[in-house]
Amino acid sequence: MKIDIVTIFPEYLAPLELSLIGKARTTGVVQLDVHDLRRWTHDVHRTVDDTPYGGGPGMVMRPEPWGLALDELAADAAGGAPGDGAGQAGDGAGSAGDGAWSGRLVVPSPAGVPFTQALAHELADESHLIFACGRYEGIDQRVLDHAAARMPVTEISLGDYVLFGGEVAVLVILEAVIRLLPGVLGNADSLVEESHADGLLEAPGYTKPPTWRELPVPEIVRSGDHGRIARWRRDQALLRTAARRPDLLAALAPDGCGKVVGLPREARGAHQLLEPACPRSQRHALSPRKQQR
Ligand code: SAM
Repeated sequence: MKIDIVTIFPEYLAPLELSLIGKARTTGVVQLDVHDLRRWTHDVHRTVDDTPYGGGPGMVMRPEPWGLALDELAADAAGGAPGDGAGQAGDGAGSAGDGAWSGRLVVPSPAGVPFTQALAHELADESHLIFACGRYEGIDQRVLDHAAARMPVTEISLGDYVLFGGEVAVLVILEAVIRLLPGVLGNADSLVEESHADGLLEAPGYTKPPTWRELPVPEIVRSGDHGRIARWRRDQALLRTAARRPDLLAALAPDGCGKVVGLPREARGAHQLLEPACPRSQRHALSPRKQQR
Protein backbone atom coordinates (compact mmCIF):
# COMPACT_ATOMS: atom_id res chain seq x y z
CA MET A 1 0.00 0.00 0.00
CA LYS A 2 1.20 3.49 -0.85
CA ILE A 3 0.51 6.21 1.72
CA ASP A 4 1.17 9.93 1.37
CA ILE A 5 0.57 12.33 4.26
CA VAL A 6 0.53 16.09 3.73
CA THR A 7 0.93 18.28 6.81
CA ILE A 8 2.53 21.51 7.98
CA PHE A 9 4.03 19.56 10.90
CA PRO A 10 5.91 16.58 9.41
CA GLU A 11 7.63 15.97 12.78
CA TYR A 12 4.23 15.15 14.26
CA LEU A 13 4.21 11.94 12.23
CA ALA A 14 7.52 10.68 13.66
CA PRO A 15 5.81 7.82 15.56
CA LEU A 16 5.13 6.22 12.18
CA GLU A 17 8.77 5.13 12.23
CA LEU A 18 8.27 3.06 15.38
CA SER A 19 7.06 -0.40 16.27
CA LEU A 20 5.05 -2.48 13.82
CA ILE A 21 4.32 0.43 11.47
CA GLY A 22 8.04 1.16 11.23
CA LYS A 23 8.60 -2.53 10.50
CA ALA A 24 5.85 -2.53 7.85
CA ARG A 25 7.72 0.31 6.18
CA THR A 26 11.12 -1.37 6.25
CA THR A 27 9.70 -4.68 4.99
CA GLY A 28 7.89 -2.88 2.16
CA VAL A 29 4.32 -3.75 3.20
CA VAL A 30 3.66 -0.02 3.08
CA GLN A 31 5.47 2.75 1.24
CA LEU A 32 4.79 5.76 3.44
CA ASP A 33 5.92 9.32 2.74
CA VAL A 34 5.29 12.43 4.83
CA HIS A 35 5.25 15.73 2.91
CA ASP A 36 5.51 19.29 4.17
CA LEU A 37 2.64 21.28 2.65
CA ARG A 38 4.92 24.33 2.54
CA ARG A 39 6.90 22.60 -0.20
CA TRP A 40 4.05 23.67 -2.49
CA THR A 41 4.09 27.35 -1.41
CA HIS A 42 5.92 29.97 -3.43
CA ASP A 43 5.82 33.21 -1.43
CA VAL A 44 8.66 34.30 0.81
CA HIS A 45 6.67 33.54 3.97
CA ARG A 46 5.55 30.10 2.69
CA THR A 47 1.98 31.02 3.55
CA VAL A 48 -0.62 28.27 3.93
CA ASP A 49 -3.51 30.16 5.57
CA ASP A 50 -5.58 33.31 5.24
CA THR A 51 -8.53 35.06 6.84
CA PRO A 52 -11.96 33.49 6.21
CA TYR A 53 -14.35 35.01 3.69
CA GLY A 54 -17.47 36.15 5.51
CA GLY A 55 -15.54 36.93 8.66
CA GLY A 56 -15.29 34.91 11.83
CA PRO A 57 -12.47 33.79 14.06
CA GLY A 58 -9.36 31.94 13.00
CA MET A 59 -7.76 31.25 9.65
CA VAL A 60 -8.56 28.89 6.78
CA MET A 61 -5.96 26.91 4.83
CA ARG A 62 -5.52 28.37 1.35
CA PRO A 63 -6.38 26.12 -1.61
CA GLU A 64 -3.32 26.73 -3.81
CA PRO A 65 -0.68 24.68 -1.96
CA TRP A 66 -3.19 21.87 -1.40
CA GLY A 67 -4.11 21.86 -5.09
CA LEU A 68 -0.47 21.62 -6.13
CA ALA A 69 0.22 18.90 -3.57
CA LEU A 70 -2.68 16.78 -4.85
CA ASP A 71 -1.74 17.47 -8.46
CA GLU A 72 1.64 15.95 -7.71
CA LEU A 73 0.68 13.11 -5.39
CA ALA A 74 -2.58 11.97 -6.99
CA ALA A 75 -2.14 12.88 -10.65
CA ASP A 76 1.47 11.80 -10.87
CA ALA A 77 0.66 8.46 -9.27
CA ALA A 78 -1.97 7.97 -11.97
CA GLY A 79 0.65 8.61 -14.60
CA GLY A 80 -1.16 11.72 -15.77
CA ALA A 81 0.15 15.22 -16.22
CA PRO A 82 -0.05 17.38 -13.10
CA GLY A 83 -2.93 19.84 -13.29
CA ASP A 84 -1.68 23.41 -12.93
CA GLY A 85 1.94 22.43 -12.96
CA ALA A 86 3.32 21.10 -9.71
CA GLY A 87 6.20 23.09 -8.39
CA GLN A 88 5.36 26.19 -10.40
CA ALA A 89 4.39 29.44 -8.86
CA GLY A 90 0.78 30.44 -9.09
CA ASP A 91 -2.15 28.04 -9.28
CA GLY A 92 -4.44 30.99 -9.11
CA ALA A 93 -7.80 30.78 -10.82
CA GLY A 94 -6.83 28.22 -13.48
CA SER A 95 -8.56 24.87 -13.92
CA ALA A 96 -6.43 22.11 -12.53
CA GLY A 97 -5.94 18.38 -12.74
CA ASP A 98 -7.97 17.34 -15.77
CA GLY A 99 -6.24 13.96 -16.01
CA ALA A 100 -7.18 10.89 -13.98
CA TRP A 101 -6.14 10.90 -10.36
CA SER A 102 -5.33 7.78 -8.42
CA GLY A 103 -5.86 6.85 -4.81
CA ARG A 104 -8.33 7.92 -2.17
CA LEU A 105 -8.11 11.20 -0.31
CA VAL A 106 -8.71 11.02 3.44
CA VAL A 107 -9.34 14.28 5.25
CA PRO A 108 -9.61 14.15 9.05
CA SER A 109 -12.43 16.44 10.17
CA PRO A 110 -14.78 16.73 13.14
CA ALA A 111 -17.51 17.03 10.47
CA GLY A 112 -16.56 13.70 8.87
CA VAL A 113 -18.04 10.22 9.13
CA PRO A 114 -17.17 8.45 12.38
CA PHE A 115 -14.09 6.24 12.17
CA THR A 116 -14.93 2.57 12.74
CA GLN A 117 -13.30 -0.81 12.32
CA ALA A 118 -15.44 -1.33 9.20
CA LEU A 119 -14.04 1.86 7.70
CA ALA A 120 -10.51 0.76 8.66
CA HIS A 121 -11.09 -2.47 6.67
CA GLU A 122 -12.39 -0.43 3.73
CA LEU A 123 -9.27 1.77 3.73
CA ALA A 124 -7.02 -1.28 4.10
CA ASP A 125 -8.34 -2.50 0.74
CA GLU A 126 -7.08 0.62 -1.07
CA SER A 127 -3.77 0.63 -2.90
CA HIS A 128 -3.06 4.34 -2.38
CA LEU A 129 -4.19 6.64 0.44
CA ILE A 130 -3.45 10.35 0.58
CA PHE A 131 -4.06 12.09 3.92
CA ALA A 132 -4.59 15.85 4.13
CA CYS A 133 -4.00 17.15 7.65
CA GLY A 134 -5.98 20.31 8.32
CA ARG A 135 -4.96 22.97 10.83
CA TYR A 136 -6.50 26.29 11.90
CA GLU A 137 -10.21 26.27 10.96
CA GLY A 138 -9.63 23.62 8.32
CA ILE A 139 -8.97 23.49 4.56
CA ASP A 140 -10.75 25.67 1.96
CA GLN A 141 -13.76 23.58 0.90
CA ARG A 142 -12.90 23.94 -2.80
CA VAL A 143 -9.88 21.66 -2.34
CA LEU A 144 -12.18 18.82 -1.32
CA ASP A 145 -14.76 19.62 -3.99
CA HIS A 146 -12.11 19.74 -6.69
CA ALA A 147 -10.54 16.46 -5.58
CA ALA A 148 -13.94 14.76 -5.23
CA ALA A 149 -14.49 15.19 -8.96
CA ARG A 150 -11.32 13.18 -9.59
CA MET A 151 -10.97 10.62 -6.80
CA PRO A 152 -12.88 9.26 -3.80
CA VAL A 153 -12.71 11.69 -0.89
CA THR A 154 -13.62 10.67 2.65
CA GLU A 155 -13.77 13.06 5.58
CA ILE A 156 -13.27 11.09 8.78
CA SER A 157 -13.98 12.11 12.35
CA LEU A 158 -12.31 10.51 15.34
CA GLY A 159 -15.17 11.55 17.58
CA ASP A 160 -17.38 14.37 18.68
CA TYR A 161 -14.68 16.73 19.86
CA VAL A 162 -12.27 19.15 18.20
CA LEU A 163 -8.51 18.65 17.93
CA PHE A 164 -5.87 21.22 16.99
CA GLY A 165 -5.10 19.41 13.75
CA GLY A 166 -5.48 16.29 11.64
CA GLU A 167 -2.09 14.72 12.43
CA VAL A 168 -3.19 12.79 15.52
CA ALA A 169 -6.23 11.55 13.60
CA VAL A 170 -3.95 10.26 10.84
CA LEU A 171 -1.83 8.42 13.41
CA VAL A 172 -4.96 6.78 14.81
CA ILE A 173 -6.39 5.88 11.40
CA LEU A 174 -3.09 4.40 10.21
CA GLU A 175 -2.65 2.37 13.42
CA ALA A 176 -6.02 0.78 12.70
CA VAL A 177 -5.49 0.34 8.95
CA ILE A 178 -1.90 -0.89 8.77
CA ARG A 179 -2.40 -3.63 11.36
CA LEU A 180 -5.05 -5.09 9.03
CA LEU A 181 -2.61 -5.47 6.14
CA PRO A 182 -1.39 -9.01 5.45
CA GLY A 183 1.97 -9.73 7.04
CA VAL A 184 1.91 -6.92 9.60
CA LEU A 185 0.67 -8.85 12.65
CA GLY A 186 2.64 -11.94 13.68
CA ASN A 187 -0.57 -13.85 14.41
CA ALA A 188 -3.43 -12.98 12.07
CA ASP A 189 -5.88 -14.66 14.51
CA SER A 190 -5.49 -11.54 16.67
CA LEU A 191 -7.68 -9.76 14.12
CA VAL A 192 -10.49 -12.28 14.52
CA GLU A 193 -10.69 -12.39 18.30
CA GLU A 194 -10.71 -8.75 19.20
CA SER A 195 -13.11 -5.96 19.99
CA HIS A 196 -15.25 -4.80 17.05
CA ALA A 197 -14.24 -7.74 14.85
CA ASP A 198 -17.73 -9.26 15.17
CA GLY A 199 -19.63 -6.33 16.62
CA LEU A 200 -18.78 -7.15 20.25
CA LEU A 201 -16.16 -6.00 22.74
CA GLU A 202 -13.52 -8.59 23.55
CA ALA A 203 -13.67 -10.59 26.80
CA PRO A 204 -11.17 -9.62 29.54
CA GLY A 205 -7.69 -11.16 29.25
CA TYR A 206 -5.45 -12.70 31.92
CA THR A 207 -1.87 -13.94 32.14
CA LYS A 208 0.43 -15.32 34.83
CA PRO A 209 0.60 -15.36 37.82
CA PRO A 210 -2.61 -17.26 38.62
CA THR A 211 -3.18 -15.06 41.68
CA TRP A 212 -2.03 -11.47 41.91
CA ARG A 213 -2.68 -9.27 44.93
CA GLU A 214 -5.24 -11.83 46.10
CA LEU A 215 -7.08 -11.59 42.79
CA PRO A 216 -7.34 -15.01 41.13
CA VAL A 217 -7.62 -15.60 37.41
CA PRO A 218 -11.12 -17.06 36.74
CA GLU A 219 -10.87 -20.82 37.16
CA ILE A 220 -12.48 -21.52 33.81
CA VAL A 221 -9.74 -19.89 31.73
CA ARG A 222 -7.15 -22.08 33.50
CA SER A 223 -9.22 -25.24 33.04
CA GLY A 224 -7.71 -26.24 29.71
CA ASP A 225 -11.22 -27.00 28.42
CA HIS A 226 -11.14 -25.03 25.18
CA GLY A 227 -14.85 -25.48 24.47
CA ARG A 228 -15.87 -24.06 27.87
CA ILE A 229 -13.30 -21.29 27.58
CA ALA A 230 -14.63 -20.28 24.17
CA ARG A 231 -18.21 -20.17 25.50
CA TRP A 232 -17.11 -18.21 28.57
CA ARG A 233 -15.29 -15.69 26.41
CA ARG A 234 -18.35 -15.28 24.21
CA ASP A 235 -20.56 -14.74 27.27
CA GLN A 236 -18.11 -12.23 28.73
CA ALA A 237 -17.99 -10.42 25.40
CA LEU A 238 -21.78 -10.16 25.38
CA LEU A 239 -21.95 -9.04 29.01
CA ARG A 240 -19.28 -6.41 28.56
CA THR A 241 -20.86 -5.13 25.38
CA ALA A 242 -24.28 -4.95 27.00
CA ALA A 243 -22.90 -3.08 30.00
CA ARG A 244 -20.63 -0.69 28.14
CA ARG A 245 -21.93 -0.42 24.58
CA PRO A 246 -25.58 -1.48 24.32
CA ASP A 247 -25.69 0.39 21.01
CA LEU A 248 -23.35 -2.25 19.53
CA LEU A 249 -25.57 -5.14 20.66
CA ALA A 250 -28.63 -3.47 19.24
CA ALA A 251 -26.87 -3.23 15.88
CA LEU A 252 -26.04 -6.95 15.75
CA ALA A 253 -27.72 -9.25 13.25
CA PRO A 254 -30.72 -11.12 14.71
CA ASP A 255 -28.63 -14.16 15.65
CA GLY A 256 -25.65 -12.08 16.73
CA CYS A 257 -26.29 -12.30 20.44
CA GLY A 258 -25.78 -16.04 20.36
CA LYS A 259 -26.71 -18.10 23.34
CA VAL A 260 -25.26 -17.06 26.66
CA VAL A 261 -24.40 -20.13 28.68
CA GLY A 262 -22.65 -20.73 31.97
CA LEU A 263 -23.07 -17.23 33.28
CA PRO A 264 -20.80 -16.73 36.29
CA ARG A 265 -22.51 -16.28 39.64
CA GLU A 266 -21.45 -12.63 39.85
CA ALA A 267 -23.12 -11.98 36.51
CA ARG A 268 -26.59 -12.98 37.73
CA GLY A 269 -28.95 -10.32 36.58
CA ALA A 270 -26.85 -9.65 33.54
CA HIS A 271 -29.79 -10.78 31.46
CA GLN A 272 -31.44 -7.55 32.51
CA LEU A 273 -28.67 -5.71 30.74
CA LEU A 274 -28.70 -7.98 27.75
CA GLU A 275 -32.44 -8.26 27.27
CA PRO A 276 -33.18 -4.70 26.26
CA ALA A 277 -30.08 -4.60 24.07
CA CYS A 278 -30.68 -7.85 22.18
CA PRO A 279 -33.31 -8.29 19.51
CA ARG A 280 -36.60 -9.60 20.92
CA SER A 281 -36.17 -12.89 19.04
CA GLN A 282 -32.95 -13.57 20.96
CA ARG A 283 -34.19 -12.81 24.43
CA HIS A 284 -35.35 -16.34 25.21
CA ALA A 285 -31.72 -17.47 25.02
CA LEU A 286 -30.83 -15.01 27.76
CA SER A 287 -33.36 -16.16 30.27
CA PRO A 288 -31.59 -16.98 33.58
CA ARG A 289 -33.97 -19.94 34.11
CA LYS A 290 -32.81 -21.47 30.85
CA GLN A 291 -29.18 -20.92 31.76
CA GLN A 292 -29.53 -22.56 35.19
CA ARG A 293 -31.00 -25.73 33.74
N1 SAM B 1 -13.37 24.60 12.31
C1 SAM B 1 -13.43 23.18 12.27
C2 SAM B 1 -14.84 22.72 12.65
O1 SAM B 1 -15.41 23.35 13.55
O2 SAM B 1 -15.33 21.72 12.10
C3 SAM B 1 -12.42 22.57 13.21
C4 SAM B 1 -11.02 22.73 12.76
S1 SAM B 1 -9.85 21.93 13.82
C5 SAM B 1 -9.41 23.20 14.93
C6 SAM B 1 -8.43 21.78 12.79
C7 SAM B 1 -8.24 20.43 12.15
O3 SAM B 1 -8.14 19.43 13.14
C8 SAM B 1 -9.35 19.94 11.25
O4 SAM B 1 -9.25 20.51 9.96
C9 SAM B 1 -9.11 18.46 11.24
O5 SAM B 1 -8.11 18.11 10.33
C10 SAM B 1 -8.59 18.19 12.64
N2 SAM B 1 -9.62 17.68 13.55
C11 SAM B 1 -10.17 18.34 14.59
N3 SAM B 1 -11.07 17.60 15.24
C12 SAM B 1 -11.08 16.40 14.62
C13 SAM B 1 -11.82 15.21 14.82
N4 SAM B 1 -12.72 15.08 15.80
N5 SAM B 1 -11.58 14.18 14.00
C14 SAM B 1 -10.69 14.28 13.00
N6 SAM B 1 -9.96 15.40 12.76
C15 SAM B 1 -10.15 16.46 13.56
